[in-house]
Amino acid sequence: MIRLGRDKKAALVSIVVTAFLAVIKYSVGVLSGSIALVADAVHSLTDVISSIGVFLGLKISSRKPTEAFPYGFYKAENIVSLLLALAIFYAGYDIILSSVEKFEEVVLTNVPIAISAALASLVFTLLLSSYQLKVGRETKSPSLVADGKHTRTDVYASAVVLAGILGNYLGFYALDPIAGILVAVFIFRSGYEILKDSIKVLLDASIDYESLHRIRELASEAHGVRKIRSLKARSSGKFVFVELEIETNLRDLERAHHLSDKIEEKIKSEMKNVDRVIVHVEPEEKEFIRYAVPCTENNALQSRVSEHFGGAEYFCIFDMRTADNDLADMRFIKNPFIGLEKMKGLRVAELLATKEIDKLVTKESIAKKSAFYVLEDAYVEFEETDADTVREIIEELK
Ligand SMILES: [Zn+2]
Repeated sequence: MIRLGRDKKAALVSIVVTAFLAVIKYSVGVLSGSIALVADAVHSLTDVISSIGVFLGLKISSRKPTEAFPYGFYKAENIVSLLLALAIFYAGYDIILSSVEKFEEVVLTNVPIAISAALASLVFTLLLSSYQLKVGRETKSPSLVADGKHTRTDVYASAVVLAGILGNYLGFYALDPIAGILVAVFIFRSGYEILKDSIKVLLDASIDYESLHRIRELASEAHGVRKIRSLKARSSGKFVFVELEIETNLRDLERAHHLSDKIEEKIKSEMKNVDRVIVHVEPEEKEFIRYAVPCTENNALQSRVSEHFGGAEYFCIFDMRTADNDLADMRFIKNPFIGLEKMKGLRVAELLATKEIDKLVTKESIAKKSAFYVLEDAYVEFEETDADTVREIIEELK
């Protein structure tokens, strides 16, 4: 046997009870000639349809996307609902036409049976709504609670039908067709509810502002993200799909990949209904590339390149514009650690790491020294040179 959750079982019970009431009301409506009963039967039928939607919705939303339907099944269900909503609107329109035709003095037959049917509908609808609301709240199923609230107001439809039949019996013949028209309003409402929900999902409704803001925050917090270029999220049924475009200063593919995995994990672990996060990683658009060169003197372009790194007297820092590869800015900093006995290189590296340098150009290789790791951590790239002056380096870059 198939085991159903309590919410699914309640949705199934709603379908069976409402369908049973629809059959009773339709048969008795035809037998007695009451258009109000027939209208309420049609109304119950529309409610069966939307309850089937709730039932399928509960089933489908507990089903993950497959390979063939990578975005899930939510939309197929919604296209069907859209067509059903149109059919329901037509049914409501038809009921109003038939009711208007019956405004002449139509006397109902089999009134006791008609009254019993209307009364039974009223009582069962009331019981059903209490049951739906109770299970819906206990299982935290928003769709079942919504269905329960709808059913509760349907008690009014049954009361209107009962009043119409009694009125007709007492000689106010028009009351039965008037009740029919009032019930048509309930039919339109069911159609509108189905239509609204399906259109929302079909149009890829975005998620609420707070969730969107939280996703943006989580992504910005990740180390290596310089800018969020765009963020899109849409909900499909219970699930949210996120598309994110970020700028990073990481140039290494593996690191950039690791970064996007980290962002995805972070968002998914905090926001449980996020089904998937797609991160597009783009390199940060830079206006300048900043170079650092150890020098023996501060003599502008004529400065001689030092043979050492930690022991260099000065560091020449200059920016090359990415647009035209021209020199944009140049300055020198004096090496404050040159007098140290030990760890000059490490201290200098720590200082340069704060200067947002992209490339370090040296004569002496600093690979495998502690300075190298400090600078690598600050995403500095390394280049070795044979050039004697800063001018030569810049000429080579051009
Ligand atoms: Zn209804």
